[in-house]
Amino acid sequence: MSLKLYDTMAREKRPFVPADPERVTMYVCGPTVYGYAHIGNFRPVVVFDVLFRVLRHIYGQDAVVYARNVTDVDDKINAKAVAEGVPIKTITDRYLAAYNADAAALKALPPSLAPHATDHIQAMQNQIAALIQRGAAYAAEGHVLFSIEAFPDYGQLSGRPLDEMIAGARVEVAPYKRHPADFVLWKPSKPGEPVWDSPWGAGRPGWHIECSAMIEAVLGLPIDIHGGGIDLTFPHHENELAQARCAHDLPTYANYWLHNGFLDMSGEKMSKSLGNVIIPHELLETTPGEVIRWALLSAHYRQPLDWTPSLIEQSRAALDRLYGALQRVKGLDHEDAAPPAGVLEALSDDLNTPKAYAELFALAKALETAHGEGKALAKAELLAAANLLGFLEADPDVWFAGGADDELRGKVETLLEARKTARTAKDWAAADRIRGELDAMGVIVMDSAEGATWRLKDPV
Ligand code: AMP
Ligand code: ZN
Repeated sequence: MSLKLYDTMAREKRPFVPADPERVTMYVCGPTVYGYAHIGNFRPVVVFDVLFRVLRHIYGQDAVVYARNVTDVDDKINAKAVAEGVPIKTITDRYLAAYNADAAALKALPPSLAPHATDHIQAMQNQIAALIQRGAAYAAEGHVLFSIEAFPDYGQLSGRPLDEMIAGARVEVAPYKRHPADFVLWKPSKPGEPVWDSPWGAGRPGWHIECSAMIEAVLGLPIDIHGGGIDLTFPHHENELAQARCAHDLPTYANYWLHNGFLDMSGEKMSKSLGNVIIPHELLETTPGEVIRWALLSAHYRQPLDWTPSLIEQSRAALDRLYGALQRVKGLDHEDAAPPAGVLEALSDDLNTPKAYAELFALAKALETAHGEGKALAKAELLAAANLLGFLEADPDVWFAGGADDELRGKVETLLEARKTARTAKDWAAADRIRGELDAMGVIVMDSAEGATWRLKDPV
């Protein structure tokens, strides 16, 4: 299969060719750990997880190195620590653990590397020193600034002329800046903030240098793929790129730039002031992570994703259909199969997940209608295709029964058996009564040609 990816820099889909197929490198900007991440923050998590899975399928499980950083030095982290009267590490440990747990619940594989900014301060200082040496940065009043005039390609990624960028970017005006768009590489820490010694005065790194220095330290320059949300294109990625290229006189920083579109709430921006912020950490109490993952991948990753109240229900229904097909062949042994061509083609076309979903439904249908030996192969193919997208790893019984204990499960099975007997005897009154009883127990019965499956209304 030939993978094509839309490259923000080239502004078109390009065939993906890694510099070294035995070591494919991908970096995605990760979380700033000062609070629970919202549902929009998890869109890049699952999108780049699908890409990670696809790359591993093509190049081999161990041939892909995926790094997602943790920003653990930031104004917001510090403010939160001050507000709670606890050390900064208490805050970052707490929210990083929650982030990792939520990402796992959303079936995202752990990245190969998760570098923490505070562990790579030396690498940042080295990159800053290299920039100063080449005349692309200057120290002034305890700050070090990148000099954008030293980099004629500045603006190439976001594609905006410099004056427009300056107008749109709320650039900080400071007397020590030579050019209004020069940005901070190093700055003095405010009282109470973490502080590190440096040749330019005690202080802390700017945000952009964190990523370019960590990429240099843990992956090496240049990398194959750099990803993140579309909002990071400017200034964050533009600045990362400028730093890394100028520090080492490189023609390229990342060979492919991938950006996911934004998630909106019923057409509105998600914001605290509008009171419409959804936090997976809370949503996961009532909704399986796989359902949230399905919802997040239901639109093509570059398109906006409109999060509506019905999206979760539609996603649950879609997964019920697929798990239903698997439940009906539960006892059927199968060998492993390769993912079928249809789903590979869909994902190879710039990660077309809506098309891949259609392929999963087609495979489920093929499974339902297959006979004899073909049925085992159909089951294996559905599972292999789903695995590429991170779905259908649960036991179908567990999926449907949710948190039901053995006692409840036994009762439900007995009632369903009695209902089946009543229906076979055309005793519709008895069948309805049993269905009512199941309903009162919070059980939803789903009938199909192949028999009935069930699940709890509100998983406990
Ligand atoms: P942040 O912690 O704000 O740097 O965001 C972490 C990641 O989530 C970045 O890649 C952002 O681009 C992305 N992101 C933030 N908000 C949204 C949103 N509403 N929809 C999609 N991606 C988002
Ligand atoms: Zn970054």
